Amino acid sequence: MSMDATFPPPRSPSSIINGLSVDVEDWFQVGAFEKVIARGDWDAIRTRVEDNVARVIDLFAEADVRATFFTLGWVARRHPQMIRRIVDAGHEIASHGYDHARVFTFTRAEFAEDIRKARAILEDCAGVAVTGYRAPSFSMDRRTPWAFAELAEQGYAYSSSVAPVAHDHYGWPEAPRFAFRPLPWSSLIELPVTTAILGGRRVAAGGGGFFRVLPYGFSRWAIRQVIRREGRPAVFYFHPWEVDPDQPRVGHAPLRSRFRHYTGLAKMAGKLRGLVEEFRWGRMDLVAHREAARAEDLVLPPTGDEVAA
Ligand SMILES: [Zn+2]
Repeated sequence: MSMDATFPPPRSPSSIINGLSVDVEDWFQVGAFEKVIARGDWDAIRTRVEDNVARVIDLFAEADVRATFFTLGWVARRHPQMIRRIVDAGHEIASHGYDHARVFTFTRAEFAEDIRKARAILEDCAGVAVTGYRAPSFSMDRRTPWAFAELAEQGYAYSSSVAPVAHDHYGWPEAPRFAFRPLPWSSLIELPVTTAILGGRRVAAGGGGFFRVLPYGFSRWAIRQVIRREGRPAVFYFHPWEVDPDQPRVGHAPLRSRFRHYTGLAKMAGKLRGLVEEFRWGRMDLVAHREAARAEDLVLPPTGDEVAA
């Protein structure tokens, strides 16, 4: 077997650090409720995010793990002390956009403004640079090739905005499953949320509703498969409202939205404790750094934007 000195050898499973992330938004800001709770009403709703983030920080402290908190600019503006507490505990503050509008609903100019505004607020509160971004509802896909270019131009180091799987609300099934470099002229790296291969098909396995609704054994199996068989880190995410079984119930939302939002809330904290104890976890900026040497290049077709430029 020939050895290529520039290609890093596979890491042993025990040395892999997986990416742990929290998408910081309040219970009423999720995509599932956007048709029944208008953005204009957000200001009047009693917020629960600060208490829930405190629970998450405690849970991480018990296990001595650091994570990345992809936070809405809207939330940071109202809870600057919470941002300080996240940073003081050793976690990374990254951007989740301003008010959870999906990237594929934006023009490039609107997206540029959204991420600029969110980052300015986050950096103001955190007192540290923000270098990571996660699109609301994993809304970057083949419709938004300009989004990576905008992130790179604004100086982001990494994105974790792609769900490389078919799903009814989001997904980019043809995207690479592991770290890739979407632009030939930039070191920007994308860290897709974890999928596993089950029966020859990609299945979502990186958190969200799947982690709550399915037994913990499924997530354990999937993350082990990624680490041991594929030799790559998992990228996992959840939300502060998922550790809050007492949150108000939105009765007039569609049944499927309610099922996805409310199932398994009471067991979530316990499941998370198991997860953070069982695998090695770290901040997403660390994972991006470690994956940089192995990221594959993605070649996207040219867009109108790039032709005009
Ligand atoms: Zn979100």
